[in-house]
Formats: sequence, structure tokens, C-alpha cells
Amino acid sequence: MYLNINRVEFVVTNLCTGQCKHCSVGHKIKETGHIQYERMKHILDKLCKRFSIQSVMCFGGEPLLYYNEVKEIMREASGCNIPKRQLITNGYFNKDPQVIRQAVIALKDAG
Ligand code: SF4
Repeated sequence: MYLNINRVEFVVTNLCTGQCKHCSVGHKIKETGHIQYERMKHILDKLCKRFSIQSVMCFGGEPLLYYNEVKEIMREASGCNIPKRQLITNGYFNKDPQVIRQAVIALKDAG
């Protein structure tokens, strides 16, 4: 087989709450576009049927600005029994404690 994929990384968005000078995202850091899970759902299911996927990661930008998309990706990864599921976040995606709590619960429920 030509390809042997064992890891999938999702750039959820380039948008970020940080303004780090060293950021590799560069001028795209203010772009609001993001992954739409509905348009790619079952992609991990399909990949897992062909490859032994060992890890999935969501990053950005700040991925938790769109935590519902992260939740769905992680739910699918969990359902596929992908053992390592990672998220890179700066931890700052909302000021509202209610929203933060919702995001935490959503991610926990997604495995
Ligand atoms: S993606 Fe990371 S490095 Fe880039 S601005 Fe955000 S927090 Fe900083």
C-alpha cells in the first residue's frame, strides 16, 4: 500500500485569541473560517477501516473557539477506538463561565 496513515491532525480554525509574535499561522490568525464537522463526518470511520489510526489531534489557531466541531471530531475518534486523542489549546476561548462549563462537559462526554 502506498499510504500508511497512523495519525490525523485537524486544523479546526486559524482564528485565535492569542496574538503571539512567533505564531506560525501568521496573518491568517484573524480569519474566522473553521472546520464544519457536518461536511466531513465519518472521515475517521472510513480511515480506520483502511489504516491503523493511533492518534488524532485538533489544533489551530484556537480550536475551542469552535468547541462543538472539536467535540464531534473527538466523539468520532473515541467511537473508532483511536487510543490517543489530543487537543492543543491556549485555554482562552470565552469569558462566560457558562460557556466554558458547557465546552468542558461536551469534551468530557465526547471521550
Ligand atoms: S495559535 Fe498559539 S501561537 Fe498562534 S497566536 Fe494562538 S496561542 Fe499564539
